[in-house]
Amino acid sequence: MVALVFPALPTVTLPVTGRAERFPIRRIFCVGRNYADHAKEMGGDSGKEPPFFFSKPADAIVESGSRIPYPPATTNLHHEAELVLAIGKNGAMVSEADAPAMIWGHATGNDLTRRDLQAEAKAARRPWDMAKGFDKSAVVGAIRPGPMPDAMLRCTVNGALRQEARLSDMIWSPAAIIAALSQLVSLSAGDLIFTGTPAGVGALNRGDTCKVEIDGLQSATVAIA
Ligand code: MN
Repeated sequence: MVALVFPALPTVTLPVTGRAERFPIRRIFCVGRNYADHAKEMGGDSGKEPPFFFSKPADAIVESGSRIPYPPATTNLHHEAELVLAIGKNGAMVSEADAPAMIWGHATGNDLTRRDLQAEAKAARRPWDMAKGFDKSAVVGAIRPGPMPDAMLRCTVNGALRQEARLSDMIWSPAAIIAALSQLVSLSAGDLIFTGTPAGVGALNRGDTCKVEIDGLQSATVAIA
């Protein structure tokens, strides 16, 4: 046994729908601009470039039903409703045909974003890490084993509809995302992939409750204290 200078932090885990065992998280990857209407609202082009990626630390995970403080260093916290893939196998250079077998299950997610810091980073050609990978920035519901639902993705804030899209409207399918990402890094069981958000992203304020829903999956709900 290796002696440690202080106890290692426990592995971050998420609940699994219908099972007592929990899903251990390794890393969190996120896809940028994967719905044409959101690419347009962010001032970009729709859908001709290959997918691009950024990441969040695993300990940024917030379980559905949590209350979190309004994050520091921003006055423009945004919600981004997304489908999350839970990877269950190790694999590099995975073909699109082999990619579906890498998926263990699916969850709803909210890629919380400090939009003002992201705009500053874009303008200065700097990394997005502090806009995307801050504490408590990855709200995720329970992971449901099995195939992807062909369903609607919705986001409401205090009950008012903000985002709505069909999952099949994604520019890059889950299989295409896994194939592309696995050319860049070796994927590992426990990795999560946020698959991008449709149009309608907007601000969250203190006191708001934001609920991301996908039919058939547990919602990813967070309250801002
Ligand atoms: Mn996103």
